[in-house]
Amino acid sequence: MRKILFWVATYCFWVITVGNAQQRCGLDASMNILELRDPTFRQRFESRKEEINRNALSASHEKNSGTSAGDITIPVVFHIVVNQGQYEKMGGKWGIESRCKSQIDVLNEDFNRSNFDSSLVPELWKPLYGNVGVHFALAHTNPYGYPSPGYTIRLISKAGVSEFDSAKYTNLGGTDAWDVNKYINVWCVNFDGPSVSGLIGVTQSRSMGGDSSALGICMLYNVLGRRQDTAQSFPGNSKDSTWYDLGRTLTHEMGHFFEIWHVWGDDNGLCPWNPDGRRVLPDLPPQGGQTTTNPRYNIPGGTIHDGCSDSSGVDVQPIGIACLDFMDYTDDSGMHLFTPDQALVMRSMFADPTGESYSLTQHPEVLEWPVGAPQIFNVFPNPTTGVLTFYYDNNTNPLQYITICDVNGIKAGTVLPTATPDFVFDISWLRSGVYILKIQFLHSVATQKVVLYKPGK
Ligand SMILES: [Zn+2]
Repeated sequence: MRKILFWVATYCFWVITVGNAQQRCGLDASMNILELRDPTFRQRFESRKEEINRNALSASHEKNSGTSAGDITIPVVFHIVVNQGQYEKMGGKWGIESRCKSQIDVLNEDFNRSNFDSSLVPELWKPLYGNVGVHFALAHTNPYGYPSPGYTIRLISKAGVSEFDSAKYTNLGGTDAWDVNKYINVWCVNFDGPSVSGLIGVTQSRSMGGDSSALGICMLYNVLGRRQDTAQSFPGNSKDSTWYDLGRTLTHEMGHFFEIWHVWGDDNGLCPWNPDGRRVLPDLPPQGGQTTTNPRYNIPGGTIHDGCSDSSGVDVQPIGIACLDFMDYTDDSGMHLFTPDQALVMRSMFADPTGESYSLTQHPEVLEWPVGAPQIFNVFPNPTTGVLTFYYDNNTNPLQYITICDVNGIKAGTVLPTATPDFVFDISWLRSGVYILKIQFLHSVATQKVVLYKPGK
């Protein structure tokens, strides 16, 4: 009974806080849930936040540049939990692979001051264009030592998850996290249900507490990656389809994972000098509430202000508000930077050995393909009318040749690779039917059934 009451209360909160409109980030809603579970949560969270900021900003050796030397690469695994229709909307296996790779590119650009749209950082903001100096890569060894393309796929029959946490457990219809001390887990799901519909992304960081096996980020499945072509599916309709197609949802959520929060302070639109208002970090200007859409903060020398621009006649927003920061709610196309103080806080997560994400830097081996392991490959389209593309990850186990056999095992031909990581070959000289490809890699052999269908032949 108590559990039922809890979920009824939870449900009401979610309906109030999430509703049906698209919601860039579920931070407020998840905080409300955590507070319902534990009334002392908010107090603990705020204390921890202050402690993290204080420690990070007092580390004066990093203070001046907002960055530091050191080569940190964090392993990331994407858990795709979708139904068949959503899988196809993502572009199938090939599309998912491509989205994962472009998403990693976006993270590496945004966290290393090399985003493609850096020219849109206005002159006044250039001193606040911080460099986190952290890199990300797909994990190529899974927790059991087997090779991985850096993502897992679970096809489900339902339209999605009705609570974001259920995506994180295999027995609840999702996928269990990989060791949270070695990998950052990102679940890509459809949010379906009155409590979560409209969500784009939501994060559980260490400071938020809760079940440690749920640490990570949950986001809408088709927000994954950066748009490569106009045919790809990203959230939105024809009017707003450009909102979330540059991969910045994960940039924003990764900021939360590394303990930085919204630039306006999540204080119900208050200015920092109000009794319940919050100043987020010293180098962020005072800001009332969140920014939506894209205010196009690219006027040379221009500034954008809000209701907190003036305090007793003193202009406290000489460079405007931080609506171009990755931690506002601006459209993907309008956000361009983390500030040096935000970078310091995130970097402090990797401090040896006290940083809460330090352990993520200690397992570079999971970024590599296990030596001698089976190869990852894909043959498509299948069925085919004749022309096939063979894709494989060119790693320590290179492709040698492919033997084409009929269903009786009789050899019909041999194909040699002509390029890496993919090449095209033609089997239209064969008759329509089912064939088996025996794929010989240097250290292993794999087989793949292909269906050749030539209309009328
Ligand atoms: Zn957020």
